[in-house]
Amino acid sequence: MNLETKREAKLEIVQVGEPVLRQIARPLRADEIQSPEIQRTIAAMLETLRLAPGVGLAAPQIGLGLRLAIIEDRAEYQSSWSAEQLRARGRAPVDSHVIINPELEVLDSNTQANFFEGCLSVAGYTAVVPRSTRVRVRYLDQRGDKQQVEAHGWYARILQHEIDHLNGTLFIDHMKPRTFMSVKNYLDRWRNAEDEAHRIFGS
Ligand code: ZN
Repeated sequence: MNLETKREAKLEIVQVGEPVLRQIARPLRADEIQSPEIQRTIAAMLETLRLAPGVGLAAPQIGLGLRLAIIEDRAEYQSSWSAEQLRARGRAPVDSHVIINPELEVLDSNTQANFFEGCLSVAGYTAVVPRSTRVRVRYLDQRGDKQQVEAHGWYARILQHEIDHLNGTLFIDHMKPRTFMSVKNYLDRWRNAEDEAHRIFGS
């Protein structure tokens, strides 16, 4: 028997309607972060995120009310978007990293960007969500060391979305309701006609 090669199973991503998605998650203690249990959870979350695939996954989405999330925006996820779409969103690859007990500071409270976003816990749907374009986040990494990042564009959006999860908030709480639509309709009809979508759906 070789347990070393046993891989973590893909975790179930819970869907909207599950109470944990609406609860305030609790901070991790310093001694918990380095525990085998939390380290295994982080590894399993990264595998789950890549299989989904997605660019962010927060612990409440796998049923754990902990202030922990993982972020990774791989270059391969961006290949189906035009250079103009990536530029407009300020989207560039982000290496995988863990944020624990994050504190968010908005750096541009006067400007917001309006783009469609989705969530692995609201599977199959998307909507326009106004988000700040520049944020600073202080957090602990998976070793428990203090880190700070200043992010803009899409990375700033991902950070806001994931930190919202730790406070029981989903994108549907911030969305422009008339833009709510299926991902299929978005990809088939509006992804390359976003200006028209904003006009028709009144965002
Ligand atoms: Zn989400």
